[in-house]
Amino acid sequence: MTEKYDLHCHSTASDGTLSPTDVILRAKEHEVTSIALTDHDTINGQAEAAKVALANNINFIPGIEISTTWENKCFHIVGLNIDPKNEILVSGITSLQSLRIERAKKIALKLEKRRIPNVFEGVTKAAQGGMITRAHFASFLLDNNYVSTQQQAFDRYLGKGKTAFVSTVWSDLNDAIHWINQAGGVAVVAHPLRYKLTASWMRRFLAAFKEMGGQGIEVVTGRSSPDEIRRSMVYANKYELAASIGSDFHSPSNQWVELGRLAPLPDNIKPVWELF
Ligand code: AMP
Ligand code: MN
Ligand code: MN
Ligand code: MN
Repeated sequence: MTEKYDLHCHSTASDGTLSPTDVILRAKEHEVTSIALTDHDTINGQAEAAKVALANNINFIPGIEISTTWENKCFHIVGLNIDPKNEILVSGITSLQSLRIERAKKIALKLEKRRIPNVFEGVTKAAQGGMITRAHFASFLLDNNYVSTQQQAFDRYLGKGKTAFVSTVWSDLNDAIHWINQAGGVAVVAHPLRYKLTASWMRRFLAAFKEMGGQGIEVVTGRSSPDEIRRSMVYANKYELAASIGSDFHSPSNQWVELGRLAPLPDNIKPVWELF
């Protein structure tokens, strides 16, 4: 069987709609041979996913996606091959977990001022103890007919600068990379082209990331075009970062993104799993 890696996806531990068990079973259906579950700012799905992966003969790579702030901008850093029980990592992400609850209350308050009631109760219930993200707010707005698509929820309310946007200072980029490295993992820039950075900001960011101990960058994601793969590969080679591949799967209801449905990594690049 050919190897099929998917090193970025979500479960109900954060804003995915499938349980960790169902993520792994679905990955199996799609012939994924190595998977990392990378929930936002939590390791809570790891033990369950690891157990199911073992039972189904899938190679499980413990992971996380950490929300960070650098120069007032938000960047997602995926940690791969971490020890999810590492104390430095676990205590580092604890503050992000309370930050997410505080932020959710603020977003809810802003929506209530727009005459949208019971939001905090709604998203708390939907998250079922998992990390609350803006995806939960988007689902709430959609389910209660305040918007007609998830995208509209971001365009009208949740996106940067919109009426219910709450500017948040996440963990320091440097701290997040440190936690991942202390946990024996590899820090990877998630979806590098989604931050809409100018070329010079991208250069500054990648130089800083590398300097701080970051080792990888996603070159192939669920919806990468050939041109995006080529551009990401140029960054990987220029900053000597290993290349990762991951769908960023959240839900079967998104028909454009599926577990394991990914373009191949280009040949002339170092795959991130060589660092595991
Ligand atoms: P947060 O980390 O709470 O700011 O939420 C970010 C999450 O919201 C991302 O991980 C995605 O799951 C989701 N998201 C962000 N932007 C969009 C968008 N334009 N459309 C749909 N989902 C989005
Ligand atoms: Mn998400
Ligand atoms: Mn992300
Ligand atoms: Mn993600």
